[in-house]
Amino acid sequence: MAQVVIIGAGLTGLSTAYYLEHNKFFDYTLVEKNARPGGLLRSETVNGFTFDYTGHFLHCNHQLFNNFLRDVVGFEHLMSIARSSSIFSHNTYTRYPFQMNLFGLPTNVIAECIEGYVQRSTHTRNPQNFYAWVLKYFGRGFGKHFFFPFNRKLADYDVRRMHPSWTGRFVPSTNLEAIIKGALSHQQPTQVGYNSNFYYPRAGGIEIVIKHLCATLSGPIATLRSIAKIDPLTKTIFYTDGTQERYSTLISTMPLNQLLALLPPSSRMPLNQYASRLACNAIVNINLGLTTPLPLNWHWTYFPEPTYPWHRLGYWHNICSQMAPEGRSSLYAEFSYQPKHMPPQLVAKKTHHAIAQILEFLGLSEQHIMVKNILILDHAYVIYTAWREQNIDKILDSLRAMDIYSIGRYGAWKYSSMQEAVIEGYQTAQVVCKKEKSQWKRCNDFMRASAF
Ligand SMILES: Cc1cc2nc3c(=O)[nH]c(=O)nc-3n(C[C@H](O)[C@H](O)[C@H](O)COP(=O)(O)OP(=O)(O)OC[C@H]3O[C@@H](n4cnc5c(N)ncnc54)[C@H](O)[C@@H]3O)c2cc1C
Repeated sequence: MAQVVIIGAGLTGLSTAYYLEHNKFFDYTLVEKNARPGGLLRSETVNGFTFDYTGHFLHCNHQLFNNFLRDVVGFEHLMSIARSSSIFSHNTYTRYPFQMNLFGLPTNVIAECIEGYVQRSTHTRNPQNFYAWVLKYFGRGFGKHFFFPFNRKLADYDVRRMHPSWTGRFVPSTNLEAIIKGALSHQQPTQVGYNSNFYYPRAGGIEIVIKHLCATLSGPIATLRSIAKIDPLTKTIFYTDGTQERYSTLISTMPLNQLLALLPPSSRMPLNQYASRLACNAIVNINLGLTTPLPLNWHWTYFPEPTYPWHRLGYWHNICSQMAPEGRSSLYAEFSYQPKHMPPQLVAKKTHHAIAQILEFLGLSEQHIMVKNILILDHAYVIYTAWREQNIDKILDSLRAMDIYSIGRYGAWKYSSMQEAVIEGYQTAQVVCKKEKSQWKRCNDFMRASAF
């Protein structure tokens, strides 16, 4: 029996292991359902093209994460990049963020955005859904031309049923001066938003972070492990191959809805019944390796209009030239869907249609495609609903009371970044180490007392 079992070798699970070892705690097992570690931070290389599971860029504004990148990856393996991103709507490219860069859009669109901003309903207290939140902070015009259609597409969810608590640093604020300046001329690229600068590996895609991290760990990772059920009373994990494993503390980074479904119905709270109340979307990530260079310089572009099935189109070779062979280019597109509303055949049909539209949009044909690599992210964006707001802390607290720490983007059911994954790994390791070491000491004291 290992004292600590960690489920999931994504960035959160691996960071937890890293900080456990930092605390000289080695009595843990790491189990992973896939053939290799990394979770969302895996990269696929096909015929000289490297693709990530959509754009994954390292945003760092915390000392702990800075130290992690320095000590684990090494800044010599990373490039610092100033974001170059845009929005395509009304047949025009405008700079990101939309709420500061209206220049180039039709006059009536600019007028609607400014008028809506001036007349916005600032008196609304605590807007309870994303729709009302946008009306309060940006007004009707910005909502109509960007926030409503874009977020509808990104989440594949009704914006009136989404709680605004996730917005925080993800949606830069604006003011009348910035709106008017940005409507009258092309602004110089500005350092607006949490992702205005980022790090990215010089070669090998984002999985390089995982490779460096795994190289620091002393213990093996048990891959291709599939869990049938978990019994929190006897603290036992039952695997689908018939084996079982006891634990003292369980750290889970698997999606919370799937974890809850593995618990017995008799738990103190009817936790397994809550699994279906947690909303999340899935993403199809279309990656294309192209025979020809592309004239666009953006790292990525957002597409709010429903005419385009994807919400973002990005260019791997512009982010890092090593992602495509010399003289070639590569791109990624993403579209979201709700798996329970879209069967696999429909997803395949939409993907096929989207590829045709991407080629048409870029003035290319099927002959330009050297590599087609379609990746599915079955958990992508957690949807913040009113139900989640009321229940998530209670669920996580109940699990902790059973010595189960459910952490990470999907373990804690939240909208979080790689930086947060590492910080959460650190914090969980601190808590668990302290708990396990004090339990071990109590047990030792007891043994010693009984011996004499
Ligand atoms: C579209 C998209 C774009 C993003 N872009 C960025 C970005 O630019 N910058 C940024 O900082 N962050 C970004 N993120 C967030 C980032 O991906 C996450 O914060 C981070 O990868 C979360 O790591 P994790 O370990 O919590 O989850 P995961 O990477 O999902 O890892 C969980 C692991 O658990 C394993 N697992 C699941 N079930 C089981 C089971 N039953 N048994 C064993 N193992 C299991 C999985 O296989 C996986 O390896 C993005 C996320 C998405 C979806």
